[in-house]
Amino acid sequence: MKEFDLIDRFFKHGGHQRKDVLVGIGDDAALTKVASNQCLATTTDTLVSGVHFLPDTPPRAVAYKAVAANLSDLAAMGAEPAWISLSLSLPDTDESWLAEFTKGLYDLSQYFSVQLIGGDTVAGPLALTITAQGFVPEQSALTRSGAKPGDWIYVTGTVGDAGAGLDILKGDLAAAGESADYLIKRHQFPSPRVVAGTMLRRAASACIDISDGLLADLHHILEASECGAMLHVDRLPISEALTELVEEQQCFQYGLTAGDDYELLFTIGEEYKSQVETAFSSFNIRATCIGQVTGVAGKTDLRLNDKPFKHSGKQGFEHFNAS
Ligand SMILES: [Mg+2]
Repeated sequence: MKEFDLIDRFFKHGGHQRKDVLVGIGDDAALTKVASNQCLATTTDTLVSGVHFLPDTPPRAVAYKAVAANLSDLAAMGAEPAWISLSLSLPDTDESWLAEFTKGLYDLSQYFSVQLIGGDTVAGPLALTITAQGFVPEQSALTRSGAKPGDWIYVTGTVGDAGAGLDILKGDLAAAGESADYLIKRHQFPSPRVVAGTMLRRAASACIDISDGLLADLHHILEASECGAMLHVDRLPISEALTELVEEQQCFQYGLTAGDDYELLFTIGEEYKSQVETAFSSFNIRATCIGQVTGVAGKTDLRLNDKPFKHSGKQGFEHFNAS
């Protein structure tokens, strides 16, 4: 199948159609409209087989996660996603692989009314780059740089699940059954916190999505905001599945350092605390206060039951290497 046939067959007609797309796939470039009071947020992410995902990952999960990672970056800015474009490098034209891949691509994009507006395919090792764009009203985007001493540190959902799921797939963590399946699903099909991101506009002083690991991503906020943090390890939101499969210390380890959870880590000032908590609970989105920003720039003070806590091992999550 030639490239044109491939794009035509799998990408041109599927997916959500938006009114702000004047020209979609099929011309030299897409034409889109941005409302005058909105900022355009743009992010891009490349996933390479054997570096960012295991070579035998189901094609549906490969596409789903690539979209999720990009929408998660938009969510971390408080942006509402609108369009994605895809560049796909494929070793061969396996139609059943592509059909499954396309399903994964459209799962989340349909749900969030996102349209695929551009596509390019080349022959080569399996890799994909997705660029996502979305809108955020002027003056209300979330960045990493606004945290202030005294602000509260929150995280959505639960942390450490995706890292444990990856370890199960790699055979580094022996587990089976429902809890293991749940963790693997959290690794392969993460949920970008799009709604939470838009709810935090103006209220959060800083925000980031957890891709490298909680401590590493918190460090990005602290660096950009020139602050420090006090983190209560015993307050980390750990899922029942993870609690069931590993010991408490290892739960903390996963929660602090494992990546790819795509939860939002954010800071809010005292004046917004109860407002944000009420909003999150009425939308049924879990958000847990895990610590507070301090004035000691660059230092993260870890506490367990109010005593100093030392975590072992690496701080950040590095993507595995298949070799
Ligand atoms: Mg990010």
